[in-house]
Amino acid sequence: LSPVPSDIEISRAQSPKAVDVLAKEIGLLTDEIEIYGQTKAKVRLSLLERLKDQPDGKYVLVAGITPTPLGEGKSTVTIGLVQALTAHLNINSFACLRQPSQGPTFGVKGGAAGGGYAQVIPMEEFNLHLTGDIHAITAANNLLAAAIDARILHEGTQSDKALYNRLVPVVNGVRGFSPIQFARLRRLGINKTDPGTLTEEEINKFVRLDIDPSTITWQRVVDTNDRFLRKITVGQANTEKGFVRQAQFDIAVASEIMAILALTNSLEDMKERLGKMVVANDKKGEPVTAEDLGTPVFVHAGPFANIAHGNSSVLADKIALKLVGEKGFVVTEAGFGADIGMEKFFNIKCRASGLVPSVVVLVATVRALKMHGGGPNVTAGAPLKKEYTEENLQLVADGCCNLQKQIQITQLFGVPVVVALNVFKTDSPAEVDLVCEIAKRSGAFDAVPCNHWSDGGRGAVKLAQAVEKAANQKNSFKYLYSLELPIVEKIRIIAQKVYGAQDIELSPAAQSQIDRYTRQGFGNLPICMAKTHLSISHQPERKGVPTGFILPISDVRASIGAGFIYPLVGTMSTMPGLPTRPCFYDIDLDPVTEQVKGLF
Ligand code: ADP
Repeated sequence: LSPVPSDIEISRAQSPKAVDVLAKEIGLLTDEIEIYGQTKAKVRLSLLERLKDQPDGKYVLVAGITPTPLGEGKSTVTIGLVQALTAHLNINSFACLRQPSQGPTFGVKGGAAGGGYAQVIPMEEFNLHLTGDIHAITAANNLLAAAIDARILHEGTQSDKALYNRLVPVVNGVRGFSPIQFARLRRLGINKTDPGTLTEEEINKFVRLDIDPSTITWQRVVDTNDRFLRKITVGQANTEKGFVRQAQFDIAVASEIMAILALTNSLEDMKERLGKMVVANDKKGEPVTAEDLGTPVFVHAGPFANIAHGNSSVLADKIALKLVGEKGFVVTEAGFGADIGMEKFFNIKCRASGLVPSVVVLVATVRALKMHGGGPNVTAGAPLKKEYTEENLQLVADGCCNLQKQIQITQLFGVPVVVALNVFKTDSPAEVDLVCEIAKRSGAFDAVPCNHWSDGGRGAVKLAQAVEKAANQKNSFKYLYSLELPIVEKIRIIAQKVYGAQDIELSPAAQSQIDRYTRQGFGNLPICMAKTHLSISHQPERKGVPTGFILPISDVRASIGAGFIYPLVGTMSTMPGLPTRPCFYDIDLDPVTEQVKGLF
């Protein structure tokens, strides 16, 4: 239709196929799905076992150039490309996406269902709660946070003997250790099974985790942009007996538990990773893990945000790769620009899964390129200035440096790249041609304009054909750095080779964290940079291809269970703030139609 109706109108105009019918069509057995209402279902892991001898399909990653705050259409390209592959080229294909966080949905960017005629439906359910995984992660995360503070309080207020009597429960008069307590006893070198035989010295050793409160790295989380929770004080009630400390909230989708869920390969692997999460140090400087606290944490499946590693789940990709068959395609998306989402996709997610992608699709828009060429600021909620709505070839040409740089970053990994120019109705044919020509000259395997937003799958047929061709190219995929290198060296390689920094500068806090993690034996993990997505550098206002900067590393954290070291670049915060006029101003419940309105 022209003009293209709003995302929500398009979503509501469709009648989605019942999910059990859809499941049957894609080859799932009845007992391999768990139905949530009419349109949603979870898939059981038994499917992976049933299809283990089926060869994998082709694996395509959609990344992008450095975006404006509005997003440049990676999700819509992902959906449009799969629509074109399936409906127009008759190739089995799947899209694997992340679940939207309430932070952006109610904050600045809006939902993450794609848009126009290339979106996930029904968009309300997709954007709001879906199957509740983010809430499950929040609950699991906060249970662990509560356990840490409670343990410090109990250790601080009870004698060793009293603590021991409470930690080792009495069941029918027989006292028993839990499996977690057994594991801890073994780590402490105490090889006893009968709690009654522990000596006083062994009890003293066993009961106290001796957590140093100043080293607690496990934060509480909530899936809301709530800036006032960036720094809080906990334990102020009298009942907490003076165990007051400063703490903070992070956004739920930055929780290590979300990262683990997305990076895990099986339930067993997930359990092991959850146990390994380091939450603090003890007073001797040794790591205290989730397992030491005995917190049971089990969740199903879900997504997470850019401050973590920004990619959807390994298990979803693996299941989809089996389902599409050898000739089929699985298209997944990496958050934000290729400098962040794609770099982490390769160095973290592909390392965790062992999967090798066939093609990278790099999404660009004329609007973002004009911004990189010196156009005025693009602000969410404000109308676009005329530079963005009228032809301006000079701005486009000047801004293509960002596209070129992102193509070069992709080439560092040895995978062929197809540029998808996501066409907006204000783009002129000359602007579109110019971008495609520069992209091809800059080393892209191909560059094609896409109209999936206005035309659905039909508008992405050229892209689908280019991706199919590129998937047959020689692929010399490689990681960017070896895990054996020292942490600082790995950070420097990303800063220099990917971001184009002259060098890095570590704050004293970052240096001492790196020393600590190295000493504790965590030095050979991959790196997950927490950096602004609005520039290739650490300064959001520097567009195009910034040069001559020193990348400041303000702090370094570790997600040992998820399996990465987590440097914070510049002033990056792990709790986003709401803007003055957040999206939720426009979101309302219509009492007559009983529908949510104002989502986009
Ligand atoms: P990303 O995944 O890169 O963040 P999205 O695919 O979520 O971006 O798109 C961001 C927003 O822009 C969505 O609201 C979408 O509907 C809109 N959009 C994307 N492509 C187009 C287009 N070609 N024309 C108009 N609006 C678009």
